[in-house]
Amino acid sequence: LFVVFEGGDGVGKTTQVSRLVDWLAAQGRPVLRTFEPGDTPAGRQIRALVLDPATGDLAPRAEALLYAADKAHHLHALVLPALARGEVVVCDRYVDSMLAYQGAGRVLDEDEVERVARWATGDLRPHLTVLLDLDPAEAVATKIDKDRLEAAGDAFHLSVRSHFLALAARDPEHYLVLPARRPVDELATAIRDRVATLLAD
Ligand code: C5P
Ligand code: MG
Repeated sequence: LFVVFEGGDGVGKTTQVSRLVDWLAAQGRPVLRTFEPGDTPAGRQIRALVLDPATGDLAPRAEALLYAADKAHHLHALVLPALARGEVVVCDRYVDSMLAYQGAGRVLDEDEVERVARWATGDLRPHLTVLLDLDPAEAVATKIDKDRLEAAGDAFHLSVRSHFLALAARDPEHYLVLPARRPVDELATAIRDRVATLLAD
């Protein structure tokens, strides 16, 4: 089972990933907790390159290809082997982040970004995407040193939010969209219930 968490910066993805992973582990389910971009040795270098302000401006296509390279490698090195072993894979960010961030706020053609992302991932789609939706104005600034992208303007983050919602609306069966301002326990329960249903099928 492949479960992905999506949403803007500071909506609480990490907290909910932890809650779900802890619950799965308590059930005795083998689980891989992972994230994009950056959860492999090569990915860490890609992440540093893309997010370090010292990199300076990257051509939008170059940036998109770096995120795509991280995804291709991450799937190959971690996600596909874990799925093949029968583990539940819980991933913080996946293709939708690329579509929302690189396709939305930036200057690239969205269909082109989607083709690149689908190619990089062999079109592997999650069984469930949990979208934690929040007005960017309410998001928590978790880092004091904001990275290059989190320092982007409000309009950018509003555009990212609406792109995530549009992606969920396109395929409602495979999404659980939750208002991220709801209490942490309530969110965790809603997510757990949905995953439990999928595991029972
Ligand atoms: O979620 P995480 O903190 O790992 O994301 C790192 C940064 O990369 C965030 O600021 C996020 O907005 C940005 N990002 C992006 N495009 C992606 C994935 C993440 O701009 N495809
Ligand atoms: Mg972040």
